[in-house]
Amino acid sequence: MKGYWIKVYGCQMNERDGEIIAGLLEDAGYFKAPAMEEADIVILHTCCVREKAENKVYGRLGQLARLKSKKPDLIIAVGGCMTQQPGAAEKMREKAPHVDLIYGTHNLHELPELLKKVEQERRPVAVVWEKEGPVVEGLPLRRTHKAKALVTISYGCNNFCTYCIVPYVRGRERSRRPEDIIKEIKALVADGVLEVMLLGQNVNSYGKDLEDGIDFGWLLERVNAIQGLKRIRYMTSHPRDFTFKLVETISRLDKVCEHVHLPVQAGSNRVLELMNRGYTREHYLELVEVLRRHIPGVSITTDLIVGFPGETEEDFQDTLSLVEQVQFDNAFTFMFSPRKGTVAASLPEQVPLEVKKERLYRLMEVQNRISRAKNEALVGQEMEVLVDGPSETDPKNLSGRTRTNKLVIFPGPEELTGKLVKVKITQAQTFLLKGEVVS
Ligand code: SAM
Ligand code: SF4
Repeated sequence: MKGYWIKVYGCQMNERDGEIIAGLLEDAGYFKAPAMEEADIVILHTCCVREKAENKVYGRLGQLARLKSKKPDLIIAVGGCMTQQPGAAEKMREKAPHVDLIYGTHNLHELPELLKKVEQERRPVAVVWEKEGPVVEGLPLRRTHKAKALVTISYGCNNFCTYCIVPYVRGRERSRRPEDIIKEIKALVADGVLEVMLLGQNVNSYGKDLEDGIDFGWLLERVNAIQGLKRIRYMTSHPRDFTFKLVETISRLDKVCEHVHLPVQAGSNRVLELMNRGYTREHYLELVEVLRRHIPGVSITTDLIVGFPGETEEDFQDTLSLVEQVQFDNAFTFMFSPRKGTVAASLPEQVPLEVKKERLYRLMEVQNRISRAKNEALVGQEMEVLVDGPSETDPKNLSGRTRTNKLVIFPGPEELTGKLVKVKITQAQTFLLKGEVVS
């Protein structure tokens, strides 16, 4: 029996891929190794959304070269978004000749056969399908959480935001059949799952490639009707496609959580247009207002990019003022990272790194203050928390998430893992809440 070890980089889509890789390998007779150093097969499932993610992979490959010199039979596989980019496999061959297997995003399901090939032939193999095939259903997976599950509802993206590599490495948008999604969620609930996260690069365009009448709201209604399921989350929402009708649908579905991750990216209409986002600042602000009016207590989080090519100080001020106006619960803030092959990478007026760093710092300062104030307002409230288990940063305590996706740390027995409990919030920090179980 051989042991495998997987390192997943990037988003929840990749996290879900990691669960499928684990499922495929365990079905093929491999077992999960307790640590990278003890594994016979190491798999790096990569991300390429920003340059930093790619640098991390090369850093890890340096570490693996040293491990392989002590353990020559070690098999190293690298795949996912980074290797899907044109020319990336060749570059990796050159920079990291100790990699045995390179796969793409579209041929993940072939992984066991490809590994067998490497084992039998003892020579490097690279298979990266250029184009996406049909959606592959029924792949095994090993869930990381007892009571929470990631469920993909659509693959790929058609939006081509000018900074983004995702449509190039994940292919065109393909919606899964609703009956396959419902069947999967019913099986998860029968296995003890209380919360599902419906995943897509743009969940709001779900169903556009299916029959008339099937859209994201339609799907949510059917998922909401599944008995035994307690919570529904979804990610990512696109402000252009989030209709007011969908807000109304969500507001009457009791299992849909009061949290919307709604990436705005920038506050200046000029920059939003250059990004090809398809909405204005005014539309975004109206959507936020409608969400808050229909869904009491909703938490709204976002993604923001600073230093998009041509972003002036005035444009950046528009982002700061939007952040002040909306009062996001939390925001993921990024410096623009040019991605080869995207429109924005070849735009003139690239913003110098020093300016990007300085803007990122100023933006984080503003958002951190807001996040803290939002959390402080929750002190004294009792909130429903789904317990994830011992906290990663503070293992003497448990951690879990509220319906509004706030991280809560509190003392309690490990047996509460996977249960819904009421927690009274006693203390607030910028990125987490502390509390005590009341029931
Ligand atoms: N589909 C989602 C959406 O529309 O927001 C998420 C896509 S992406 C994996 C997550 C976030 O990464 C984006 O919202 C954006 O803020 C950021 N991002 C994407 N490309 C980037 C780039 N070239 N430089 C910096 N940040 C980027
Ligand atoms: Fe990238 Fe835009 Fe698609 Fe999100 S919607 S994955 S940011 S192209």
